[in-house]
Amino acid sequence: MRSVTDTLQQRVTYPLLASVAELHETPLTGLTDDEIVHALREVEQATRTLAAIGHRLIVEASDRSLPSHTGTGTVKKFLMQTLRLSNADATARVAAATSLGVWHDMGGDPVEPRLPATAAAQADGAISADHARSIAAVMKRVPGSTSDADFRAAEQILADFARASSPDDIPRIGEAILARLDPDGHLTDERDRQRMRGITIGRQRADGMSPVRGEITPTLRALLDPVVAKLGRPGVNNPEDPDSPCGDYESVDRDTLAAAAQRDARTSAQRTHDALLALLQPGVAPDALGRHRGLPVSTILTMSVTEVEKAAGVATTATGGTVPLPEALKLAERSQPFLMVFNHDGVPLHLGKTKRLATAEQRMALIAAVRGCSRPGCDAPASLCAIHHVTEWGKGGPTDIGNETLACDRCHAMVHDGPGGWKTVVLGPDSKYPGRTAWIAPPHIDPSQTPTVNHRHHSGELLAEALARIHARKELDRQHHREWLRELQQPSGDAA
Ligand SMILES: [Zn+2]
Repeated sequence: MRSVTDTLQQRVTYPLLASVAELHETPLTGLTDDEIVHALREVEQATRTLAAIGHRLIVEASDRSLPSHTGTGTVKKFLMQTLRLSNADATARVAAATSLGVWHDMGGDPVEPRLPATAAAQADGAISADHARSIAAVMKRVPGSTSDADFRAAEQILADFARASSPDDIPRIGEAILARLDPDGHLTDERDRQRMRGITIGRQRADGMSPVRGEITPTLRALLDPVVAKLGRPGVNNPEDPDSPCGDYESVDRDTLAAAAQRDARTSAQRTHDALLALLQPGVAPDALGRHRGLPVSTILTMSVTEVEKAAGVATTATGGTVPLPEALKLAERSQPFLMVFNHDGVPLHLGKTKRLATAEQRMALIAAVRGCSRPGCDAPASLCAIHHVTEWGKGGPTDIGNETLACDRCHAMVHDGPGGWKTVVLGPDSKYPGRTAWIAPPHIDPSQTPTVNHRHHSGELLAEALARIHARKELDRQHHREWLRELQQPSGDAA
């Protein structure tokens, strides 16, 4: 028994543990900064791949009925006892192995993992267990009636996205994909939404406060968001600050606003509260609210001509929300929001209600094309962005729209020539995304210095792309199949 264990250890685990022990004892002080960054990356990649190997071991343990042989009964309890795992940890590992592992059917043949692209990315060491969990959480919510191709496309997008982003970024792109997979509401339709709508203002307590809870429809949200963005902006309508600009603060200069924002210690929940309070002051109505960051304080809806023709899909708002198309069209009839309709190439066909604002027109076109902060991974919606000149004026950059993109204040500040600075470039006509602004991360984030575009505000385009890839792959499979058939039919001397 002893010798069998020793052989197994030598064959399987000894080299791994020996490398780890060696690495553990390697002094790090002699390494350069670049070598430390490189080592961090390699260790992370190995940890991620090891998680995928963990799935294989869990599948193998289950196939061999080790839980029942050891009297633990379930795989989870087997892991908890053997590895001394917490209940939560063991549950998470079993869930991960269930969706990412290669299991076997009744005949013993391998079955493709439920989330194949995610499993492949983890096996490559490109994504962590955290990434995989976020992806699985999104995929769990894909409606059952979704076609197989759409399901695969959605998972592929999320896995590709995860390879270049943080796990924190996945839920948001997941929401956008779900909104597109379920535009007419297989999960929820307009009737469901109307049934769920409601705001409950609870009984006022002894301390004078009242609890509020409820669910609002996409339409109310689309109307509310721009108002809250303006009236709840950091620094304004702040009851804790006697010098805070109030109401429509359009005439207040930038420095005063910036100084007020600096003093503002409110939470975003408090700012939303104060925005609603300001909205209900006499004489304030959304139409009289003027502009916010150069844009009218009213709902901006962006939709594609395909979606209008089909009367299905979702319209995107400048505040980063989505409104199902039928409701967006109703909203457009009733309250005349700024409405932008785009053709297949993203060229504006219709620019509604463009009175008075000449520069706003350019800004609106930018919003429609870019939709939000253009730095890869950033989810700031257009309403929180300023115009960024890709080639700065001082360096001879033109002021036309081809040289402009949207960037939120935080990302805008990341573009500089110093150490750790990001760069931006406009992609040429031969690129996959001509005319789009791509960002180049500093070398410690991306040693390959690859210009990357932000897909977070363009999940529809990603979905189309992934579907095209899947169809192309199927076509390739069919071709291989045909060639293989032809070879079989040809008489061959070698084969015999
Ligand atoms: Zn940003």
